[in-house]
Amino acid sequence: MNKYEIVGVVGEGAYGVVLKCKHKETGELVAVKKFKDGEENEDVRRTTLRELKMLRSLKQENIVELREAFRRKGKLYLVFEYVERNMLELLEDMASGVPPEKVRSYTYQLCKAIHWCHSNDIIHRDIKPENLLISSGDVLKLCDFGFARTINNGMNGMYTDYVATRWYRSPELLLGAPYGKAVDIWSIGCILGELADGQPLFPGESEIDQLYVIQKIVGQLPPDQMNMFYNNARFSGLKFPSVSKPQTIVKRYQGILSSVMIDFMVQTLRLEPTDRFTIEDCLDPRVLPDRTSSQPGKPGAHQAHRHS
Ligand code: ADP
Ligand code: MG
Repeated sequence: MNKYEIVGVVGEGAYGVVLKCKHKETGELVAVKKFKDGEENEDVRRTTLRELKMLRSLKQENIVELREAFRRKGKLYLVFEYVERNMLELLEDMASGVPPEKVRSYTYQLCKAIHWCHSNDIIHRDIKPENLLISSGDVLKLCDFGFARTINNGMNGMYTDYVATRWYRSPELLLGAPYGKAVDIWSIGCILGELADGQPLFPGESEIDQLYVIQKIVGQLPPDQMNMFYNNARFSGLKFPSVSKPQTIVKRYQGILSSVMIDFMVQTLRLEPTDRFTIEDCLDPRVLPDRTSSQPGKPGAHQAHRHS
């Protein structure tokens, strides 16, 4: 660690801290994720080792690059390339969303990152604006594999009680049902919506409210999910007000997103995980053409678009 000078703290959590550091000789900036004493807590130790193992196998332009990993005085340090900001900060500066060409470019880059994970049988499980880093050159980089899981062969569904950020969680996760790669696809749809108008798509205030706000927009849960809801002890005695006229994704994003993007979003936000697009469907060039670089938009074009 002594080859780095600490510039500041960029993140803090139960696991430890993320420090912005500068290499004393080269001046290069890095982000150092410093974990708490692993030996004390078996859970923490397991999580960090899992994150390390996954990161070592993940090398792709849209996944944050792990430069080195070492242990000092029993603590694990992960050294990453430094990326200027995350999508949460970006959205704070763009309260009414980002221009359509950037919505598409970020969505495409996020899909590339998830494609890499899913091809390696890794489910990220915690895709949200804070975990999407955006470089000064507008390259999106997925970070934070603390929640990610590798899929065991022969298992097409998993059950666990884990808590990832509520707003980006799919119905099957909220219901405690078996889940798989499709949970990441749901989050992609949520991110796309938030990029488009700057508002979180499903800002639920509690677990049950989360399921309710989802239904208010995409419609009622299908019967098997509704049964799961009524049979879940966590929701015992609760029921939803009926949603006879859901708002629909189409209505909400009409005039903001192209019909191609709206359709993409509808396909990523299917309530039934088996109906949802797979990551291969998402990357079909007929759906999301490969145009990563954002076009030099005319000044004010975005504003004009939003108010038209
Ligand atoms: P956790 O969410 O478990 O606290 P993260 O890995 O998501 O840990 O890091 C926390 C925050 O630190 C991120 O939301 C991001 O703002 C910042 N951060 C993480 N990695 C980097 C990086 N490589 N470059 C710059 N900032 C980073
Ligand atoms: Mg995070």
